[in-house]
Amino acid sequence: MSLQGKIIILTAPSGSGKTTLANYLLETFGQLSFSVSATTRKPRPVETNGKEYYFVSPEDFRAMIHNDELFEYQEVYENQYYGTLMSEIQRIWKAGKVALFDIDVKGAHFVEQRGYKNVLSIYVKASSLEVLRKRLEGRGTESEEAIVKRLNRAAEELEYSKYFDYVITNDNLSLAKKVVGMIAEEFMKEEI
Ligand code: ADP
Ligand code: 5GP
Repeated sequence: MSLQGKIIILTAPSGSGKTTLANYLLETFGQLSFSVSATTRKPRPVETNGKEYYFVSPEDFRAMIHNDELFEYQEVYENQYYGTLMSEIQRIWKAGKVALFDIDVKGAHFVEQRGYKNVLSIYVKASSLEVLRKRLEGRGTESEEAIVKRLNRAAEELEYSKYFDYVITNDNLSLAKKVVGMIAEEFMKEEI
């Protein structure tokens, strides 16, 4: 797909704070629109189909891959697939907005490697794996087993930070919001 509009990617190991920062950007900049991904993960009690994700069956996800409906996708955790829908990107660009992706490190790396000009990528990290563990426990949305899976993957994901345009340590949340906001604002102002 050739790019007609802009994309901002927030990527990070799970628990680093990218959803928090994504929500901040969406509240602050009306010209940004969240690209709702498809996933085979089960919804959390607070999640609504079509808002955080389109929750689909593994069969439906396979059909999306087969029909070329996904811009990128990854098996982020064993048997848990996540993918960016072409239809979301088109919907957002048609509305004259900038697409905001909240995607995993490997999916983000895949998009980066394609060398598009109008993509900004921001990697968010917590200051240590211990801090990540505390945040995941504090969020209370995952079982202990799922937290261990996420921390194991985080160790590998930290190696990927070098592939992205910016790396931000999310320690002090209000500072991280300001930095992410400034970077996003500058990018959105640039001529295509
Ligand atoms: P991600 O989307 O990367 O998995 P979240 O945005 O859900 O991460 O953040 C994980 C948890 O950590 C949430 O409970 C969130 O409120 C909390 N959190 C986010 N940023 C900070 C921060 N700078 N300091 C302390 N807690 C934070
Ligand atoms: P969660 O289960 O916590 O919502 O998300 C787990 C991970 O999957 C996060 O790193 C999140 O950013 C990532 N993710 C969400 N949507 C997509 C997507 O469309 N593509 C990819 N590659 N990763 C995604």
